[in-house]
Amino acid sequence: MKNIPVIMIIFGGSGDLAHRKLYPSLFNLYEQGLIHDNFAVIGTARRPWSHEYLREQVSDAIHETHDQVDENEVKAFASHFYYQSHDVTNVEHYVTLKKLAQELDDRYSAQGNRLFYMAMAPRFFGTIATHINDQHLTGSGFNRIVVEKPFGHDLTSAEQLNKEITASFDENDIFRIDHYLGKEMIQNIMPMRFTNPLIKNIWSGEYIKNIQITLAERLGVEARGGYYDTSGALRDMVQNHIFQIITLLAMPEPKDLSSDSVHQAKQELLKSLIIPTPEEVKKNFVRGQYLGSDTTFAYKKEPNVDPDSTTETYVAGKTKFTSGPIAGVPIYFRTGKEFKEKKTRIDIVLKHINNPYGQAHSNNITIEVDPESKIYITVNGKKIDEPGIRREDLTYVFSKEEMAKVPDGYERLLHDVFVNDSTNFTHWSELKRYWEFIDAVEDAWQKENEAGNSEIAQYLPYRMGPKEADNIFESPTEHWIYE
Ligand code: NAD
Repeated sequence: MKNIPVIMIIFGGSGDLAHRKLYPSLFNLYEQGLIHDNFAVIGTARRPWSHEYLREQVSDAIHETHDQVDENEVKAFASHFYYQSHDVTNVEHYVTLKKLAQELDDRYSAQGNRLFYMAMAPRFFGTIATHINDQHLTGSGFNRIVVEKPFGHDLTSAEQLNKEITASFDENDIFRIDHYLGKEMIQNIMPMRFTNPLIKNIWSGEYIKNIQITLAERLGVEARGGYYDTSGALRDMVQNHIFQIITLLAMPEPKDLSSDSVHQAKQELLKSLIIPTPEEVKKNFVRGQYLGSDTTFAYKKEPNVDPDSTTETYVAGKTKFTSGPIAGVPIYFRTGKEFKEKKTRIDIVLKHINNPYGQAHSNNITIEVDPESKIYITVNGKKIDEPGIRREDLTYVFSKEEMAKVPDGYERLLHDVFVNDSTNFTHWSELKRYWEFIDAVEDAWQKENEAGNSEIAQYLPYRMGPKEADNIFESPTEHWIYE
């Protein structure tokens, strides 16, 4: 790999994301030589840390995520880290930050390249972007910015944030990160769809009955109650991860694998996304809140959650496109907290066919994303010792050794930022469309709340969410495949 000269500035350098994901991923890229001699990282946050203390934290983060490491490598890597105590609202601090970045640029021959990473509470993103612009923090080489989720709270705030960021950065230099796009099985959707005649040829409304996406979380809101109560499952999971998955499943085949072509295919599809009316929201969406158990709180009793909260910890819904290979096919999705297990999976349900054997299941194609990585297709065959049809799974699975080689999503995506590959990041026009959909659902719910007739199903924890979600299907022969 080519050594990329750069000064990286991480806003939120003492935070959880930086510690658990960014520092270990950067170390792996360092070991592979992508960033090596000509790079430095400035971690900024409010706490009064020293350079040395940040280096200890970086070293701890690596030890916590790696079984075996060469201590000299860790030390050499950590020596590239610098700490700048910083309050995002204080102008003076940006002036100091600029000076430090310039000094390090000279010391490490970073060629004026700057990479800014917003790893802080989203309410600060706009302020940071504005100060980067006003205090001219950008360098004379490339200037890229990585923006964590959520990008806005609704379309209006997303547009405002985008305006603040584009004051200093071109669209091509803005990397709106969604770590789901770095996951192995999500990256497998395109090759699976476009290289297998068996799959490619049935990818249409003629053969596919419906598609189902489940992003199930085992845990409740834990310490994030205050933040979560202003967000909810729809904004937290559907606006980004679920819509990214839907887009990959429904988009037309790109003309090649370049970032531009992939985004072009996505944008072509998203023009035909059907935005639901309030009546459709009422009919096709279910929202829920988890109840308590002997050992856990009900959502409304969680710390920092409004006891009269109407925020959903579960949502199930339906969407469709009017163009693309699966135009008209219903795509059902659901996500929520306190499911029976943590699981991310996609089920593609094929239509039944008439056959001389009578009753037989159709085929399903299932992509398991988390916690396991596998694809399986259900296949019918004959029973051995009695008449009739049995169903078995044909499974595409990774060995333990292969799984151990799969890089973390953050490592992949950071690599892409360094080599300037935007394929697996969200383009503004895609994000805008996702917000239009989410806003339509949120507005409909808000009106129901105001009219005092909000239907928020209360569901038992550690099962499959509210039973009302079984009623969103278009026909009585459809049901959730993963139960
Ligand atoms: P965190 O609360 O652990 O860290 C926030 C950081 O911001 C800390 O370094 C803190 O010191 C700093 N900070 C807070 N107020 C400040 C101020 N006024 N001035 C300067 N610094 C200040 O948050 P996190 O979990 O690391 O999340 C950061 C971002 O990453 C969020 O946008 C989140 O949605 C996103 N994200 C996090 C994870 C994760 O696993 N933690 C996963 C996906 C996305």
